[in-house]
Amino acid sequence: MIRLNIVFGEFARGCRQCQLGIKSVLFITGVCPLNCFYCPVSRDRFGRDVMFINDRPINKFPGDIIDELDRAGSNGLAITGGDPIMVVDRVVELVRLLKDIYGQGFHIHMYTHALNINEEAIKKMAGSGIDEVRIHAINPAQLNGKLSLLRVLKDAGIELGLEVPALPRFEGEIIKVAEVLITNGLISFVNLDELDVSPANINNLISMGYRPGPDGSVIGSLDAGIKIASEIRRRWSWINVNVCTSRYKDLAQIGARLFRINMRIGGGNEVVLDDGTVESKSEGGVVIKLRIGGKEYDVESG
Ligand code: SF4
Repeated sequence: MIRLNIVFGEFARGCRQCQLGIKSVLFITGVCPLNCFYCPVSRDRFGRDVMFINDRPINKFPGDIIDELDRAGSNGLAITGGDPIMVVDRVVELVRLLKDIYGQGFHIHMYTHALNINEEAIKKMAGSGIDEVRIHAINPAQLNGKLSLLRVLKDAGIELGLEVPALPRFEGEIIKVAEVLITNGLISFVNLDELDVSPANINNLISMGYRPGPDGSVIGSLDAGIKIASEIRRRWSWINVNVCTSRYKDLAQIGARLFRINMRIGGGNEVVLDDGTVESKSEGGVVIKLRIGGKEYDVESG
């Protein structure tokens, strides 16, 4: 049996939008001063101040972002990196602009590592209008001195959650992080991402004793996620917990977004298939295309 997603309680609002393919994903910078051993960000992007939206390079800020949101028909935006807080002024400018253009209902969430937050950046984010911030920390020491800063975000009406990779052997530490955040009344949800193996992290993961599985994720990561999720729900039943599998990200999130984009831009001779690929009929036969980030790939022809 293939497990796609395991939800204890409800999805966070940002996740519901991903599931429907109505949220675009903005990689707002590759800059991050940390060096997490499991960091999956490609070495072409990591440490470089480059931007991509739905994997399309951004040359003009913010024009290219708005063009892509319109092309994709998105109702929300997930801001990732690197660590977006490293370019907090850019985040704030963009959030204000998008709320002006698309209205307050346009949902925006971002990720940041607890170690990267500081008072100045938090004050800027608190006044930005952003809807949701997902905090990354894999042991409670990473939260030292940060709780009062997170409280500023919470008091500003921003929904906070914990989002971390489901790291085998770190289950106990991650539960302690959740405990600190929950007992301080800071978060309403926890997302546990099955840990993907990428060219950027494979050597580190192997040297730490992890093994890549046939589906491109770390063996044992899904079980670690379920274990953490079960314990959090057992102790704090009001917290929503979601274990997001690699397969779910590929099939549901990316597939749903591709499906939606291709439905919007497809030509009269094209049929969009369930997984978001496009079947194109021409005199030469039928060509199946995969359209990602503005590029087209023939995946099958007949
Ligand atoms: S915080 Fe994120 S981007 Fe930065 S090193 Fe860790 S995993 Fe990579």
